[in-house]
Amino acid sequence: MIEPLTRLPDGTIKQVNPFTGTKVWTLPGRAARPLGIARPDPKPLDPAEHERHCAFCWGRMIETTPEIARVVRDGSSWREVRGLVAEQLHDTVPELRLFPNLFEILSYDYWHLAHGYEPTPESLAHRTAYLSTPAGRAHVTALARIRMRSRGAAGAEAEPLDEDDLEREAVGLFAGNHQVVVSRRHFVDGATNDAQNAGAGTLTPEEHWQYTRFTIAGVRDLYRSNPHARYVSAFQNWLRPAGASFDHLHKQLVAIDEPGVDLERETERVRAEPDLFARWGPEYAETQGLVVARTPTAMAFAGIGHQYPSLVVYTSNTSCRPWELSDDEVRDFSDLVHACHAATGADVPTNEEWHHGPPSLDLPVPLRVVLKWRVSTLAGFEGGTKIYVNTIDPWAVRERTVSRLRQLAADGLVSDRLDIP
Ligand SMILES: [Zn+2]
Repeated sequence: MIEPLTRLPDGTIKQVNPFTGTKVWTLPGRAARPLGIARPDPKPLDPAEHERHCAFCWGRMIETTPEIARVVRDGSSWREVRGLVAEQLHDTVPELRLFPNLFEILSYDYWHLAHGYEPTPESLAHRTAYLSTPAGRAHVTALARIRMRSRGAAGAEAEPLDEDDLEREAVGLFAGNHQVVVSRRHFVDGATNDAQNAGAGTLTPEEHWQYTRFTIAGVRDLYRSNPHARYVSAFQNWLRPAGASFDHLHKQLVAIDEPGVDLERETERVRAEPDLFARWGPEYAETQGLVVARTPTAMAFAGIGHQYPSLVVYTSNTSCRPWELSDDEVRDFSDLVHACHAATGADVPTNEEWHHGPPSLDLPVPLRVVLKWRVSTLAGFEGGTKIYVNTIDPWAVRERTVSRLRQLAADGLVSDRLDIP
């Protein structure tokens, strides 16, 4: 085992990711600068555009694919609603929505032709019901045309759309294995200008917990509905510099038919060393003074050996799949992820990457999140050497996060269940 952190005489810090082997150097003398994107000229918000700022806003639900499920809030209680038809979309206000991505990474055709994948009975029934109403039929027809146009398919402009074309596109639309979870707000409540985006850290801890639960349920359902899914990748790109299509909080869930390179490497290692994650995750972070905060069953700390300065959150339960965790364990995890976002700030572009053990893997792999601050641009040096250069070392990440977190805790903006060292 190579030592994950080495400090050289001149102050250079060499990091090696203990799980993936990724090498990162932090060079001294690159002074910390503000991390957030500069918005010198925020524009006032137009009240007429309220809840209609982008295609993920709930005022424009007809621009996304037919919804699979939503979470609705009644005071202090939250409930899931599934299988709505188009005419019912505005009967309730969705706090969270789950729907297929219009342009998926792996299409229905890919799964169907490569693996014989068939839509579930629930998905088929929803498709039939959705197409049986005038608004639903118009909605799916419009989306079918967009998909056909994007492929340059003949017949996209036919009036009316050919019945076979509609049917074929509808199958893929309702049986998508690449889904999106969208949070309600585009801007924070009471926002007056367009720099006040509602990032994950601006949710309340309870809202973030529901967001996390709903995401975990979506991951579980993708495994259940597609027996050929070897892994479900879950991630959140925040702000355009981090790859987001819209500056509106959302996660993506993508089923794939391979475990992915990181998990393949980790699987070999954890087979030989079953306490791998605890030992080189939370325990090593503790010995190096990198802990940011704890809850009873989870820990947040500054990450080692990631392409960008990172915070990571681990659940301590390594024997359960994410959807087998108790409500308290999910809350412990969510509170820390929320706190990391709040401390990072909504003006910093980030990638939140989820890692977990898939159902087919009988090894102790905990649910964990890596939150990467996209504050530098990879260049030729990285491409040529596969050594990444960072400007902020893990201790500086930890220092910055903890000092902000203490202030947020004093202001009551993060969970009161956090233990901040
Ligand atoms: Zn929006």
